[in-house]
Amino acid sequence: MNDRQTGRIIKATGGFYYVRTSHGRAFTCRAKGLFRNRNITPLVGDLAEILPGLDGEATVVEILPRRNATVRPPLANLDQMVLVLSVVDPAPNLLVVDRFLALLEKQDIQPLVVITKSDLADPADLAKLYKKAGFPVLIVCGETGNGISALMDALSGKVSAFSGNSGVGKSSLLNLLDPRFAVATGGTSKKLGRGKHTTRHVELFPLPGDALVADTPGFSSMSITEMGGIGKDELAACFRDLAPYTEKCRFVNCSHTCEKGCAVLEALARGEIDPRRHQSYTLLYNEVKDIKPWEQK
Ligand code: ZN
Repeated sequence: MNDRQTGRIIKATGGFYYVRTSHGRAFTCRAKGLFRNRNITPLVGDLAEILPGLDGEATVVEILPRRNATVRPPLANLDQMVLVLSVVDPAPNLLVVDRFLALLEKQDIQPLVVITKSDLADPADLAKLYKKAGFPVLIVCGETGNGISALMDALSGKVSAFSGNSGVGKSSLLNLLDPRFAVATGGTSKKLGRGKHTTRHVELFPLPGDALVADTPGFSSMSITEMGGIGKDELAACFRDLAPYTEKCRFVNCSHTCEKGCAVLEALARGEIDPRRHQSYTLLYNEVKDIKPWEQK
């Protein structure tokens, strides 16, 4: 009789789960039917208890509680989401970026902002914007490889996913980290023309330094209603540069967008909050303020 072992699901395909244990051993597993009854779908990233059989295959017998889970792509227990932004060509849409950052905050996933194409334009302003807002920022050049070791350090010991819109140089970064990414991610973009429900193969790749890394599609198509369901009262808490001032705001039910004497607006006037971040907050606030709780997904 074999003993149960604990490992992480790093790949799921065709009804099989590939589970990597802390000893670095990989098992091909089937999931027990009981998950269907309990309405649990094992996800890539899940910590699972497995029972190795005599034939080399194993069975997933338990899924341990999740810290978080993303919908698209389906991933569990992410420590970190790497947002790849290029300074130019294309320049980032800050509203889209700030929306994604707020959703990550709500999900308790730590963002890491990685800025590319520093060989084409000065990244200083973009880097300063997000550093000042409280996020870790790295500048990595996909062409020269400058900054790649700092990125590797930041991935070490963590489960991370990479997200970035097409053209930002995410593929070159992943290639620098591990050329196997090129094989795994190449050619899949052709499929995306079939609409947003196209499922995509998700996999966590082990990298040196005990890092696990997944590639994900761009984040521009996400909206607040479909992920996280952030209500208007919790939006400011999802902006880490605004959050400290909301506690000092003397108004009850303040929107922090236009009220005279609002502590957030005073901090904005003093230059302690970047106006671009507050503009994103205001646009998102206006977007979510009319959404009823029961309309949120
Ligand atoms: Zn206020």
